[in-house]
Amino acid sequence: DVPVITVDGPTASGKGTLAAEVAQALGYHLLDSGALYRATGLAVMDDGVDPADETAVARVAGLLDLRFDGGRCWLRGQDVTDALRSEQAGMMASRVSALPAVREALHGLQLAFRRAPGLVADGRDMGTVVFPDAELKVYLTASAAQRAERRHKQLISKGISSNIQALRADLEARDLRDSSRTVAPLKPAEDALQLDNSVLTIDESVKRVLGWWSE
Ligand code: C5P
Repeated sequence: DVPVITVDGPTASGKGTLAAEVAQALGYHLLDSGALYRATGLAVMDDGVDPADETAVARVAGLLDLRFDGGRCWLRGQDVTDALRSEQAGMMASRVSALPAVREALHGLQLAFRRAPGLVADGRDMGTVVFPDAELKVYLTASAAQRAERRHKQLISKGISSNIQALRADLEARDLRDSSRTVAPLKPAEDALQLDNSVLTIDESVKRVLGWWSE
């Protein structure tokens, strides 16, 4: 079987960076599952579909024309790499991802990323729902204050000004929605190894995970 490493955790915990670096180090494929929910959110906005209409949103998700290519992401032939990272796409993703039919519609697409020589998958339910048989499951945590600060710096580096308090409130609202929903709530898998990266650099976190992998 093709090996899988899952990296789950809350918004802005550094999952994306950690997963990408581990995948790079091992020469594995990468699944950024949040991008699928974000792309669904963008497509729903594009089509003027009511985000509360579960059947309609699931149809959009099931027909998602999404391509990953050289670090860029294309939706319906348009480069949406930057649009996907926007707070608006994140909020929309959080809304549509609470709909069971949408999660169902994206399930097969996620499984298809499991190709030789291996996969690193990041998200909220990679270890609990999508790849329950993963060889290594990591659950990343970091304090809300840390995560807000990190997001703030990321935005500054893109020339976007933001308010830390507002960012933190947004993060906490999204965390609450992600962990209190009934389908695939955000929580560590029983067999997940927890990593608190408030106190670790990215390099240290990557080393820790690679160490677990080689054990
Ligand atoms: O990780 P990212 O911030 O890109 O995810 C955006 C939103 O998509 C999350 O807030 C969450 O609601 C949803 N999501 C999910 N399951 C995943 C990945 C993301 O529900 N596996």
